[in-house]
Amino acid sequence: MPQKQNSNREHRCSQPQLGDLFIFYVNGTLASDQRKMIEEHISECPECREELRFFATVQEAMAKDEPPQKRSNVSHK
Ligand SMILES: [Zn+2]
Repeated sequence: MPQKQNSNREHRCSQPQLGDLFIFYVNGTLASDQRKMIEEHISECPECREELRFFATVQEAMAKDEPPQKRSNVSHK
C-alpha cells in the first residue's frame, strides 16, 4: 500500500548514495558485487526498496517503448 506523506520526505537511509545505482541495477548494467550491495541494503531499507521498485517500473515502461534493436544477434525464441 502506498504511503503518502505531505511533509517533506525524510530519507533515513544509511546509504543514500546507493540510490544513484538503482537505475543501473534495474537496467542490468551494474556489477554483481554492487547488485549484491543493493539487494542487501533494500532488504533492510524499505525506503530504498520502494525507490527501487519505482525505478523498475520506469525501466519496464521504457523497455516496452524502446525501438526494436538490431536483430542479427538475437537468438530465436
Ligand atoms: Zn536505503
